[in-house]
Amino acid sequence: MTMNEGTTRCLIIGSGPAGYTAAIYASRANLNPVLYEGIQPGGQLTITTEVENFPGYPEGVTGPQLMEDLRRQAERFGADIRRGTVTGVDFGVHPLLVTIDDGTVISADSVIIATGATARFLGLPDESKYSGMGVSACATCDGFFYRGRTVAVVGGGDTACEEALYLSNIAKKVYMIVRKPHLRASKVMQQRVFDKENIELLFNTNTEGLFGEEFLEGAHLIEHAGTDQERRHDILIDGFFLAIGHKPNTDVFKPWLEMDEAGYLKLEGVTSQTNIPGVFAAGDVADPHYRQAVVAAGAGCRAALDAERYLGLL
Ligand code: NDP
Repeated sequence: MTMNEGTTRCLIIGSGPAGYTAAIYASRANLNPVLYEGIQPGGQLTITTEVENFPGYPEGVTGPQLMEDLRRQAERFGADIRRGTVTGVDFGVHPLLVTIDDGTVISADSVIIATGATARFLGLPDESKYSGMGVSACATCDGFFYRGRTVAVVGGGDTACEEALYLSNIAKKVYMIVRKPHLRASKVMQQRVFDKENIELLFNTNTEGLFGEEFLEGAHLIEHAGTDQERRHDILIDGFFLAIGHKPNTDVFKPWLEMDEAGYLKLEGVTSQTNIPGVFAAGDVADPHYRQAVVAAGAGCRAALDAERYLGLL
């Protein structure tokens, strides 16, 4: 065997709550899992601040600390955690072949995909400037910190409506910044938004920039851009929530795995089984609905148990 090859009974791709939980279970089942961390070690939670809704932390925990704890728990049972990103797979053979960005090719009896999803951002430089200081892509994670304040939600889909409704019960006022003259969300969600007195819809509106001394204080908006009705104005806000969709990190699996039209992996029933025997998935990569750390952790457990059962049959 050369330096650039390896074998494992169980290869886990991704280091969010799903990947690390799968690693905890797979290690304790003596599968000697190898886990590749991916582009963002620790996953989406490493860019949030306080996590108050993960069971077992009555005082709350920071996102990075929670991920560090999960990682240490996996390492305690011998999980082999490595830096590296998957650049290609061949799921047409058994053992399954997975190529890492340093050129290593791992042949694995089973693979657990836990590569997560990435929130879409508008691409404004100010979004990263105020990240964690008013800019968020998750109302259920961060909404609580805006109790009694004024916030804006960007987007006009079901997620944006859901986030705006959630925030409207916490914040004093919620703006929805919608680029079209109408919402894209389902009628029932639209009606719920229209019925809320403290949600103000700003149609035909885009965000040009954000401002604030240290923390976010407001947004520069443009209405009817490029028409003779074009108008620029500012709103004063403490929070700016992106809800313009998520993208599951599945590009590398496209030729092999069944996905829905948005790219989320399709699983068989309530299992973690994909359409390829021995390939399992857990967490946001296969979950367009809940997107919660605790749900992803549960799914990671499920995938490891499914892998263990599958390997017992080999
Ligand atoms: P969607 O793709 O449905 O909506 C994205 C929204 O963001 C659209 O209003 C879109 O505008 C807007 N948008 C996209 N890019 C930009 C941009 N650069 N600037 C400004 N606005 C932008 O994504 P969702 O996350 O809302 O939903 C994904 C899927 O999940 C959908 O199928 C949805 O129905 C489903 N879902 C269902 C829920 C439920 O049933 N309760 C809850 C959440 C999601 P435009 O309309 O102009 O394209």
